[in-house]
Order: sequence, then C-alpha cells, then structure tokens
Amino acid sequence: MWVQRLGRSLVGYAPRFFRPISTRIVGKTNIEVQEQTDSQPLIFPGVWLRDNCLCEDCFHVSSQSRKLDWDKFDTRVHPLKVRTDEKAQEAIVNWSDRHESRFPIKWLKERSFREEHQEEYLADLYRPPTRLWAGSQFKTISQHFDYGQVMDDDQVLEQWLQALAVYGVALIRGAPQDEGVVRRLAERVGFIRRTTYGEEFVVQAKPGAQNFAYLSLPLPLHTDLPYYEYKPSVNILHCLVQTESPGGSNLLVDAFYVADRLRREHTEDYERLCRIVVDWNDIGSEDGREFHNIWRAPVICLDAQGQYTRVNHSVPQRDSHFNVPFEEVQPWYESYAKFVQLSRSEAYAFKTRPGEVLTFNNIRLLHGRTGYDDTEQNSRYIVGAYLDWDIIYSRLRVLKKRRNQ
Ligand SMILES: [Zn+2]
Repeated sequence: MWVQRLGRSLVGYAPRFFRPISTRIVGKTNIEVQEQTDSQPLIFPGVWLRDNCLCEDCFHVSSQSRKLDWDKFDTRVHPLKVRTDEKAQEAIVNWSDRHESRFPIKWLKERSFREEHQEEYLADLYRPPTRLWAGSQFKTISQHFDYGQVMDDDQVLEQWLQALAVYGVALIRGAPQDEGVVRRLAERVGFIRRTTYGEEFVVQAKPGAQNFAYLSLPLPLHTDLPYYEYKPSVNILHCLVQTESPGGSNLLVDAFYVADRLRREHTEDYERLCRIVVDWNDIGSEDGREFHNIWRAPVICLDAQGQYTRVNHSVPQRDSHFNVPFEEVQPWYESYAKFVQLSRSEAYAFKTRPGEVLTFNNIRLLHGRTGYDDTEQNSRYIVGAYLDWDIIYSRLRVLKKRRNQ
C-alpha cells in the first residue's frame, strides 16, 4: 500500500524524463542520430530528410502527403547545422536552401535505413511473410474462425486476414444458411471485387453452363480468372448445400510451394515456366453481354526481387493461340506437364460442410473439385465472391495500427 502510494506520488511530481540524444552531420550530407541508450547510431541521407520535411510548407498533415514543390527541389541540398531539442525529442536541421526542418526522434527511428529495421517494418506493416506448405502439412497450417466472431470482433477479423496472408487459406465456420454471407464477409473487410460473372456467383451444376465450373464433372486444379490482368485475389466460397454423393471434395494446393519444388528439383522447367508468356482467355456471354478476355503472362510470375507474385494455371482457360517461337512449344509442354503433375501430388482434398466458408488466395493457390452426382433432393450449392489484396492488406494495416495505439 505504502509502495503504491509513493509510486503514485512520484509519477505525479517527477519532472518529465528526457532521453539524451546527440546529432551531427556526417559525410557532409548525412545526419547521424544517437540515443545514448542505443549502442548504434542511425544515419539518414540529407536529401531524403529534406524531401521529407514535416513543416507545413512541405507536408500536408490532414492528407498525410508531401506537398514540397518538386519543380524547385535541389537534390544537392545539404545540412549546414543540426542540433537537438531534448525537451521536444526532436532533431532540428538548417539546410543549404535556408530552410529549417524539425524531425521527431520517434518518427526518424520508425524510418531507419538499417536493413534489419527495414525488414521488420516490411514484415509487420507492408505484408506478412508467407509460409509455404506441402499438401501433407495442410491440417497443421489450416486455421478456422467462427463467423460470428469474425463479424463482431476486430481481433478475430485481423487473425482471419493474417492467416489468409501468411498461409493463403483459412476456413470460417458457423455461418448462417443464407445467400448474403459472402457479401457480409466481403463488406466486413471492404467491398466485393466484381468480375464478368457478377459480384456474387453461384456454383451449381446447371445444364448448358457458360463456365466450366458450373458442371458436376471433376474440375481440375486451376486458378480463377487467369485471363484478367488484375486477377481477383481471394475466393470466398460459402457452402450452403453439400452433395451427399462421395464426390464434391475441394482440392487445394499451394502453388508457390510447388514452384519452389520445381526450382529445386527441375530448374530448367522452372525457368521456362517463369519466362514463357502464355495466352489465357475466356470467351462467352453473361446476362446478355458478350465478352472476350485475354491476358498474356507466364505460369509462374516473379517480381523485381525474384519473389512470386502470381501463378496462372487453368486448362479450360488456356488459349489455343500460343504466341511463342515455334521451337519453344514442345519444351514448354514438357515443363508445364511437370508442374501439373507436381501440383496434383501436393493437393489436399477435403469437403466443406454447410455453413462453412472456404477462403483462399487465388493468386497463390490452385483449387479444384472432384466430380459428384446431384439428386433431386440434394443439389450441391455454393455461393462465391472475390476480394482484392489491396483491400485486404489495407484493412489489416488499419486493424494493426489501431491495436498498437
Ligand atoms: Zn519544410
């Protein structure tokens, strides 16, 4: 009791604690910031600091945007003087263009140029690092969440989206048996991604189907809409009625894992599938509107850092137009067959039950379905919709920021 009371009075009367900070100009253009408690100083390029001045002439606070006049920006600008305001915990810089900037130390630390700090920031706020999985690991990596909790609790919403980002798949259970579930889930995150097939779509065996998925035949492994430049990112598939016949199982494969295996075990095939551009297409009409979609891209797409950005695979939606040099054709088929064979060997099969919502990354995973038989009393009925990663990552960042505040 006494300790508590003393503690409280100390907090009340103690002067604010200022951390001693030293700043200096190094290498003529850069600024070094050293907190005495920190063993290693942080160094910031002068040109970057001047570009990111936070004063009201250079930065628009309410839109969090730079408003510095770049038509007049001198990239050779350099600091003339730097000092520290320990009370405000700020570094104050006077520049060769007669400007003065103040940078909060906390703001600077959050923008450290040290590699490990940048990696930490990117993994935490930009995109969580992915964890790839083999088919045999599916049971250990697949997480499930309660529909009601996802809808009501921001923490559970964040956990669902985080699982989706890391593993590319997550299951939601306990959803009501109505057709509005996929829209409500999508709108809990942001908004539905519309495609040629509308916003919500029904996957049900129907005669004269305009899309291969709308048949009860086995649906081989594929990604949806490879013929779109901006391919829908995440599938939300709500099972309302499941077939009682032995079929109708979902098949899922982590195609980034398959690509990794291909790179290790069949390097030439891997390189060919990263290099050869394939035509993907979809021709038909929906609600009286005719469409003809084409997108040309390799099976395995990489970014500037050699990271996977997207996998394209769909036997029905691969165009018969194949605009590659003649001599590339046969080797490409060999490599593609290897990819398809490896994918099949890594596929995990399971059957969703009514009230379950399967969500997975359409950029990364292949999915398929085993064939099934509908009866008059039992006809498999799935309602689907898509979400985009831009919308999901944005929501995830907002949730993380709110939790950290
Ligand atoms: Zn300024």
